[in-house]
Amino acid sequence: MSIGRKQGLVEVADGIHVWLPADGSWGWSNAGLIADNDQTMIVDTLFDLPLTKIMLGEMGRVIPAVKEHVDILLNTHANGDHCHGNELVPTSRIISSVATADEMSELPPAALAAMVRRFEEDDSPLGRYIKHAFGDFNFSDITMKAPTETFTKSMSVTIGDLEIELIEVGPAHTKGDVLVYVPSRGVIFTGDILFIEGTPLMWAGPVDNWIDACDRIASLEAVTIPGHGPITDSSGAIAVRDYWIMLKNEAKIRFDDGMSVRDAARDIDLGAFADWGESERIYLNVNSLYREFGSSEVVEDVMELFAEMGQIWEGEGENEKHI
Ligand SMILES: [Zn+2]
Repeated sequence: MSIGRKQGLVEVADGIHVWLPADGSWGWSNAGLIADNDQTMIVDTLFDLPLTKIMLGEMGRVIPAVKEHVDILLNTHANGDHCHGNELVPTSRIISSVATADEMSELPPAALAAMVRRFEEDDSPLGRYIKHAFGDFNFSDITMKAPTETFTKSMSVTIGDLEIELIEVGPAHTKGDVLVYVPSRGVIFTGDILFIEGTPLMWAGPVDNWIDACDRIASLEAVTIPGHGPITDSSGAIAVRDYWIMLKNEAKIRFDDGMSVRDAARDIDLGAFADWGESERIYLNVNSLYREFGSSEVVEDVMELFAEMGQIWEGEGENEKHI
C-alpha cells in the first residue's frame, strides 16, 4: 500500500495511527498509537519535548483517553528521537528490551544538549554537520524517563482485544531494536530497522542480524509497515536488506584489499541506493562493518564519526583536511 506523502497523525488501520513528520532526515522519526476498547499504547516518543507535546496533543484529539492515561509506552530502541519525550506520556508502564534500557543511559539528553551548544558558533565542517543533524531540536530540560519493564527476544501484550507481539531483532541499528507487530491489523512498527528513502545507519550491528530482521519483516503478514520515513510494505524491508547485502559485500572486498574505511566509503558505488537521503552515513556503516571484519583501525569516537560523515555530506574539494 502507499500512504504517499502524508504527515501528522495518520490512521493506517482500525485503531492504529502513525505520526509522520514532514521528512525523515536526522532526528525526524515516526511514532505510533494503538487503541482498542479504551486501552492505548504509544510506540516511541520524539526527539524533544516541544515536538512530543504537539504529537500527544494530536493523539489526544483523536483518542481522548490518551490525555489521561496511556496503558503502555513502548520504546523501539534507545536513540533519543525515539524516547526523549517519555516523561510527557501519562503512563506507569514503559517497555523496552533489556539492551535498549541499558543503552538509554549511555547518551543522556544533557550531553546532547551540551554538544549542540558547543558547536553553535563552530563553522568547521563538523560544526556545520552537527547543526544540520541536530540544530532543529531543543534538548534542554529533558528528564529521561526509563523503561519500567524489560524483556529479551519476545513478549506479548494486549491492548483491548488486540494481541501485540514485541519482537527483539537487535543488536542491529542499536543494541536492542524491537519490532511491534499487530497481526490482526496487518501492521508492524519497525523503529529504525527500516529507513525508507533515507540511508540506514548501523551503530551496533552485526549486519547479519539486520538482514535477518528485514527477512523476518518481509515474511510477516503485514501490509502496513512504518519505519523511519514514509510508510512502506514488504518491498521496503527487501530494499533495506539489499542495501546491507550490497554494502557488506563491497566493504568486505575493500577490507580484504587493505583499503582504509575512509577510502572504502568513498570508493563504493551506491548504485540504486545513491538516491536515498543521508548517503554520507556510508562512512559510519563501513566503519561498523570493518569492526565486524576485525579491523584494528575503526573509529570509535562518535564526534570523529560525525566529522567524517560531515566531510562527505559537504563534498570534498582539493583542500580536504582531516579534523
Ligand atoms: Zn534510531
